[in-house]
Amino acid sequence: MVKLNNGYVPETIDEALAIMKEQEVKPYGGGTDLMIDEKRDSTYLFLHKVSELKMITEDSDYIRIGAEATFTDIEESDITPQILKDAMSHLAGPAIRNFGTIGGNIGNGSAKADSVLILFATDSLMVLRSTDSERTIYVKDFYKGRKQLDLEKGELITEVLIPKKYLNNYYYKKIGARDALAISRMGFAALLYEENGIIKHIATAFGAVEPIIIRRPEIDAMLIGKTIAEAKALKNDYLKAYDDAINPSAGRVSKEYRKNVCMNLLKDFLKENGI
Ligand SMILES: Cc1cc2nc3c(=O)[nH]c(=O)nc-3n(C[C@H](O)[C@H](O)[C@H](O)COP(=O)(O)OP(=O)(O)OC[C@H]3O[C@@H](n4cnc5c(N)ncnc54)[C@H](O)[C@@H]3O)c2cc1C
Repeated sequence: MVKLNNGYVPETIDEALAIMKEQEVKPYGGGTDLMIDEKRDSTYLFLHKVSELKMITEDSDYIRIGAEATFTDIEESDITPQILKDAMSHLAGPAIRNFGTIGGNIGNGSAKADSVLILFATDSLMVLRSTDSERTIYVKDFYKGRKQLDLEKGELITEVLIPKKYLNNYYYKKIGARDALAISRMGFAALLYEENGIIKHIATAFGAVEPIIIRRPEIDAMLIGKTIAEAKALKNDYLKAYDDAINPSAGRVSKEYRKNVCMNLLKDFLKENGI
C-alpha cells in the first residue's frame, strides 16, 4: 500500500478497513464531490486501486455493484439494469461519469443523487463493512436527514445490492440541469409489475424535493393486489395521499412548482400504465 503525504492508497478492502480503524481518514472515491466541498486539510483514503470494490456481479436475487464502480462502469456493464443505466446517462458529463462512483453518490448524502434515486425506487440494499462488522441495510434507511448518514466510525460502504425482480417495467425522468445555477432539478423513478392482470408491485421515488429522497411504500400498497381497472377507481385517493405526503423543502424554485412537477410525473407514470 502506498502512503502519500495527504493519504493512503490501499489495494484491498482489508487494507482499507485497517486504515479506517487506525487513522482519521476520509474515504475518497472519485473525488467529484470532495474536490469541491472539502477544505482539503483531510487525510484521505483513496479507494481507486481497490479492485474488489469495483466489481459488478450478480447472484440469483441481486445485481451487486461495488462501491467504487464509476457511473461509466455501470453504464457499460451488461449486468446493470436499464433503469440505472438510464439515470447514469443523464448524470453530469463524461468526465464526472468516468470518475464519480456509486459509493460516493451514496456517501455524499444528497437527495439529488441520481443513482440513489434508483436505489430507493428499487428497494436496494447496501453493505457496510468495518474491521469488526458487516451489516446489510436498505439504502433508504442509511439516510437520517440532509447529510446525516447511518455510517459508524470505521465503516466503509462496500457494495449495493439491487433486487432483480420487478425491474423491467420502469419510468424515469430527470428534470432540469444540476450544475446550472438558476435551474432546479428533480428526479422521479417508479416501477410497476403486473402479473395475470394484477398489480403485484408498485414503487415510486422522488428526488431533490425533501432533504431525503421520498419513498412511501405504504401509499403504493393502496394499489398492490388490484387490477388496473380497480387501480383506476382508486387513482384519486392514491394521488391525494401523495399530494398530502410530499412537502418540498424551501429552495430556489417555489415549493408549489416542485409539488406540481412531482404530481405531474406521478400522473404520467400511472397513465403510461393504463391507470
Ligand atoms: C460538475 C459536476 C456535476 C455533477 N452532476 C451530478 C449529477 O448530475 N448527478 C449526481 O447525482 N451527482 C452529480 N455530481 C456529484 C458527484 O459527481 C456525485 O455525487 C458522485 O457520485 C460522487 O462520487 P465520488 O466517487 O466522486 O465521491 P467522492 O467525492 O469521492 O466522495 C463523496 C462522499 O462520499 C464519501 N465516500 C466515498 N466513497 C465512500 C465509501 N466507499 N464509503 C463511505 N463513504 C464514501 C466521501 O468520504 C465523501 O463524503 C456532480 C458533480 C460535479 C462536480
